[in-house]
Amino acid sequence: MTALHLSLARWRLAPVTLMLMLSTVAIAEEPRLFSREWYAQFTGDFSRPVQPFRVVGNIYYVGAENIASYLIATPQGHILIDSGTAEMHDAVIGGIEALGYKPSDVRFLLASHAHFDHVEGHALIQRRTGAQVVAMRGDAEALETGHDTSALGAMGWEPVRVSRRLTDGDSVTLGGTTLRAIHAPGHTQGATIWRTTVEDGGRRYDVAFFTTTTPNPGVPLFDNPRHKNVIDDTRRTFRKLKAEREPDIVLVGHPQAMFAQTMERMRRGERPHPLLNGATAWTRQLATAEEDFERRVIQEQSRR
Ligand SMILES: [Zn+2]
Repeated sequence: MTALHLSLARWRLAPVTLMLMLSTVAIAEEPRLFSREWYAQFTGDFSRPVQPFRVVGNIYYVGAENIASYLIATPQGHILIDSGTAEMHDAVIGGIEALGYKPSDVRFLLASHAHFDHVEGHALIQRRTGAQVVAMRGDAEALETGHDTSALGAMGWEPVRVSRRLTDGDSVTLGGTTLRAIHAPGHTQGATIWRTTVEDGGRRYDVAFFTTTTPNPGVPLFDNPRHKNVIDDTRRTFRKLKAEREPDIVLVGHPQAMFAQTMERMRRGERPHPLLNGATAWTRQLATAEEDFERRVIQEQSRR
């Protein structure tokens, strides 16, 4: 997910603002891919620390302002999904401690996808906690070489050893919690959507950790040297995800827009749960992303 998705999400929240913007000035453009401004989105504000909080059941947020890191705490140790940027590292560790958990009890480190903003901190977390890195094939190789091998090809990260390689449908189980990995190639070759069920106040919630499904805006779809079959892979991913059962709660990797109206309510433990719109969120995100993607394919094809 990129700043584009973020700004679109913001617009949905503020249609009046959008109309005003459209009527007065040209819309601010997304920074050019790999420009200093583009990279600067992910450090600075996106990586700013956030007080950790419980999302639902045994799922906690230990990420930054707009880059997620989710802790799943169990009696037999913990699972962390995404380490975020290196800049976030101290805040992630501090967040785990502030919740009363020990970083050294993190057993498994998972990822949504191998892009620097989600895995740059992997090596640091691995060293600090001793956790095993678990990764989907396609991204496992990227994690171990430290290079972004996806269609995007952005900056890399410190290489990290992968202890376990997954394929579609594999799961990670610890202390009564099972996370199922859905291989969703497109944004990266090993992009992974994690699904689990948690108990909270006497009810069960089916939770999905969503990840971006399509290559970043501006990334070539045809003849992309790093991901040659990215169009077919992405289309297969959409088919697969649309066939999935809709979750109760959808969590995302760049949550600022999602948290704008809900973070304080989650901190207060409000029920019904403020994010209990998972079925709609799932369906809408897939429909919007697929529509955008097919439009890109047609546009790019017409320029060939
Ligand atoms: Zn990404």
